[in-house]
Amino acid sequence: MLAPGLVMPPDDLEPPGRGFRVTCLGRAGSYPAPGEATTGYLVSTGTTHVLVDCGAGVLANLLRVLPPWRLAALILTHAHPDHVSDLVVLPHLIEWVAWRRLSQRRPLPVYAAPETAAALERLLDDPTLEVHPLAAAEARGIGDLAVRCARVEHPVETWAVRLEHGGASFVFSADTGPTPALAGLAREADLFVCEATLPDEMADRAGHIGHLTPALAAQAAAEAGARRLLLTHIAMGFDPDRFAAAAAAAGPVPVEPARPLETYPV
Ligand SMILES: [Zn+2]
Ligand SMILES: [Zn+2]
Repeated sequence: MLAPGLVMPPDDLEPPGRGFRVTCLGRAGSYPAPGEATTGYLVSTGTTHVLVDCGAGVLANLLRVLPPWRLAALILTHAHPDHVSDLVVLPHLIEWVAWRRLSQRRPLPVYAAPETAAALERLLDDPTLEVHPLAAAEARGIGDLAVRCARVEHPVETWAVRLEHGGASFVFSADTGPTPALAGLAREADLFVCEATLPDEMADRAGHIGHLTPALAAQAAAEAGARRLLLTHIAMGFDPDRFAAAAAAAGPVPVEPARPLETYPV
């Protein structure tokens, strides 16, 4: 039963467009840029909505495009704070908003690799969330989305994610340094969202700390034969349009920076 005077998001709120699409809820790397969230992407089909990563400020942006009770699941690529920090407040959002709207209280499935799941259990033990291994999402899919994952190169256990629907594919690199696993997972992806944390002049440092540059992202996209590339996880203070220009100069795949609250057809 809703509390008197409680204003809920409209039930039919949903990201613009139709069919398989991806909305950028946050693209900032490591910590939020002014007015910008860290990593979060909402993947939507006609009927299934999955949030991939839940960084700082992502839930505030989610509430602009989707009522939280319509989320089917959350996928976490790894346990770094810029990918999970809004999880700390997610139980309140589920209990105070989603569960007041749903006829049945159901925990939100959270799919995470073992080390992330263990970190989550240390951080929160809450009935609003139900943690499953990533392998379960790969085996069963989520709604009408098929799921595949690949371990990538990062200081903590990190998995890139591929979601498919109706013959189209979206791939998210997560955080990673150069690795052949990335191009393997992104093979012929229709939309490849790839991290580019540091500029090309800092390629050595980027690789050392498990990140990519615009040229390295462009190379991975070209190797994969991806059809479209969006750059994400750009460290604060660097110009996303310059990063996209650098990536465009380094490979043939059409590229632009992911833009907050923009929705992209897959
Ligand atoms: Zn990160
Ligand atoms: Zn990370």
